[in-house]
Amino acid sequence: MARKPAPSPSVVLVGRPNVGKSTLFNRLVGERSAIVNPLPGTTRDVLRRPVEWQGNVFELVDTGGIFGASADPLQVEVSIQGLKALKGATVVLMLVDCQQGLVPADQEVAERIRQTGLPVVLVVNKVDNSHIAKEVDEFHALGFERFSSVAAEHGLGVGDLLDEVVATLPGRKGDQAASPLDDREEISIAVVGRPNVGKSSLVNLLARADRVLVNDLAGTTRDAVDTVVKWHGRRIRLVDTAGIRRPGQVVDSGRLESVSVALARRAMRRSDVAVVMIDASDGVTKRDAAIAGEAERAGCGVILAANKWDLVKGRESGFAKQFDRQIRDGLKFADYAPIIHLSALTGHRASKLMEMVAEVDAARAGHISTGELNRFLERVTRRKPPSAGAGGREVKLQYVTQVGVKPPRFVIFSNRATSLHFSYERYLKNRLRESFNFTGSPINIQVRSSHKSTRKR
Ligand code: GDP
Repeated sequence: MARKPAPSPSVVLVGRPNVGKSTLFNRLVGERSAIVNPLPGTTRDVLRRPVEWQGNVFELVDTGGIFGASADPLQVEVSIQGLKALKGATVVLMLVDCQQGLVPADQEVAERIRQTGLPVVLVVNKVDNSHIAKEVDEFHALGFERFSSVAAEHGLGVGDLLDEVVATLPGRKGDQAASPLDDREEISIAVVGRPNVGKSSLVNLLARADRVLVNDLAGTTRDAVDTVVKWHGRRIRLVDTAGIRRPGQVVDSGRLESVSVALARRAMRRSDVAVVMIDASDGVTKRDAAIAGEAERAGCGVILAANKWDLVKGRESGFAKQFDRQIRDGLKFADYAPIIHLSALTGHRASKLMEMVAEVDAARAGHISTGELNRFLERVTRRKPPSAGAGGREVKLQYVTQVGVKPPRFVIFSNRATSLHFSYERYLKNRLRESFNFTGSPINIQVRSSHKSTRKR
């Protein structure tokens, strides 16, 4: 008999009916899956689909409506079928509904799952209004340590959930391949920039400085080749190096310029940190700004690397300051990104760059407690209240919570539906950066009305 390939880990979604299992299933499968299939919306069969996240593949299983407690005696039978789906599960995602709050049926489902002894991630769904700050906490009563809040319908918090899931998988990428090298998480870096800024030179330098572990084809994107190197025992994935592995190739046509933006975008979407290279001997251009703008949209951390510093070293003493000012003026929206002067040719400050990458990566994963955030909000709004909304009506920002990391995402609840003036949003972001360490990381702030949504699902 032919041997079966090793099965992927199986992640099983459970929860009482209508907590949003199918919505979350579609969200997880549709958004990041290697295989995107239209799903029959109403099937009550157990659905299985592969999901790929950060190089890890698992099978997501939706138990549909068949697993969940109810007063219906038939439900006992179907629950048993649901429990069968748990056989062979690696991790269980237990979904609850924040808008309905904790109900006895949740306790029953939790109890059954606990009996299996499987690792569980509790997923609090529908966290898309004022309940978020007030009512998420009550679900801690279920006693599961791993916890994630999402709004499956809007995709909020889904990346964090996937991080959490992947962290529970045995032999996940990073564990498996890093061992015995290192047990910390891999960092993915996109080295991006205009043609001839020195991307290939930097990638080659990093690949030379340490051992190249693998050049592999990345999971989801055709033709995307990553290079994985070891730096201080840590795995560093240089994302999408296919197009940048031949140093010295002189390319300067306009068409290739725009290709460079497209390649940068693709790489940054899969990266933790983007190293946006700027040619110090040439100055800051619109294309540099376009590429840095893509980094912010991709949500990765950003470092602005002024390369070819060896060529400008002999300049007058004020040059460094002047060049940094030019960078800040040209790339205003990336004002949170640290600047480094380096030389990919001589290797000058390449290790400093890697230290910065690790720092930005850590900052981007930072999580601030709701208590601390609310004290922060009170302080900064007292110092400078938001301007009035439409019709001159007072806008009060009442509370704030962090709904995601990588990049940090916050939801602020306000007394009325409004959006913040961009200058006030900038004020809040800057204060957040000052108070908590978010070096090099974009920050996302959304404002919601704290009045309960009346929308029926
Ligand atoms: P890419 O198109 O961004 O990948 O750029 P390359 O790495 O191919 O570099 C373009 C040219 O700039 C090559 O001739 C490199 O040798 C040169 N170059 C790259 N980095 C540096 C640097 O730090 N200093 C100097 N002087 N030249 C560099």
